[in-house]
Formats: sequence, C-alpha cells, structure tokens
Amino acid sequence: MAILLSLHAVLQHDEALRHISLRQLGSFVQLSKALKRDILLVQATGQPEDQLPDFLLNGIAGFLKDACNLQSIGNVASLWTLLKTSVWFEQPLGLYEPFRQHGHIHGILPDALYPLHHMCKNMDCQRSLMGQLLTTAIQRDALLYTLSGVVATKHVQLHCESCKVTYHHNSFVKGDHHHYYNCILDINQVATHVFLE
Ligand SMILES: [Zn+2]
Repeated sequence: MAILLSLHAVLQHDEALRHISLRQLGSFVQLSKALKRDILLVQATGQPEDQLPDFLLNGIAGFLKDACNLQSIGNVASLWTLLKTSVWFEQPLGLYEPFRQHGHIHGILPDALYPLHHMCKNMDCQRSLMGQLLTTAIQRDALLYTLSGVVATKHVQLHCESCKVTYHHNSFVKGDHHHYYNCILDINQVATHVFLE
C-alpha cells in the first residue's frame, strides 16, 4: 500500500494523469501483473524475456482501459511507462471479477496457462542460440479447477519454428516423443483441455 501511495503521489505532478484514483492505480498494477505472459507473447522476437517491453498490444491496452475505467488509451500508455517496472518483477494476485466484466470483449482471460519459458530450451536450436522469443502460439479454451471453483481460461502452446519443438504448460513435444518437465507445477493438466490447481 505504501508503494501505491507513493506512485499515486507521483501522478499528481502529471497534468494528464492526476485525475486517476488510488483504486484505479491499484487495479492497473494488479491486472497488468496478471497479464505478464500475454504481454510478452506479442513482443518482438529479440525482446529478452526478463526485460520490460515498451508498448502494450491494443487488445491488452483496451482491456486495461475498460477494466480500470480509464479515460483513454493514452492514459494506459502513460501509466504503463510509469509503472511497468513494478508490474514486471512482482507476482500477480488472483483477480477474477474484472476479467469476467471486461475480458471477453478483448479476448483476455485470467490465469492463462503458458509453458514455463518463453524461449526455446533446446540447446542445439538456432533460435535459442540467438536469444529469440518463441512467438508462434496456439491458443485453446481450457477449464481450470481451483479450490474456489472452475475458471474458464486458455491453454497457450508455443512452437519453435527452428527446431520444431512445441512447448505446453506441463510438457513439450519433440518429434514423436512427449516429455514432461522435470519439476512440480502448481497447476497440472488432467485431460486434453482440463487443468487442476
Ligand atoms: Zn528451438
């Protein structure tokens, strides 16, 4: 809360942003955190996955404008420029109501299930050696069963055009073989489009 108050105080010095309330500011930070992987998916291939993108895609900017009740897309761009550092390096909280109200029209869903990494992890892969992000994505509807209920979300698969490996949330497919990651995840796939928290 102290950080939010400090950020809000900074906004008071900006003619175009001083009307934004503390509540709107808090919503913007939390929702942006929840969309980190969606934001990274549409960046240029040379964008390092641990660095901050300068721009947001229209769909995501439109969602943030509506969900935070901001006046314009320009407000979103200005807030992103000011706040992206705090968004990028902190963990998101679970926030479903704004997604239910505003997400559908912009194609934005909560808790999208992405592979662990946005880079190809095949050590022999040219794309991996050049440090390029994976940008070929296949998106499917999915159901996530949580302790607090069922959430409609999406499962995003990332495909490497160079070495032809496809990365899923829990596994990757190389040639005819399906490999599971060597770690325990919070969310696991239990059927084709069904996941369990
Ligand atoms: Zn690859």
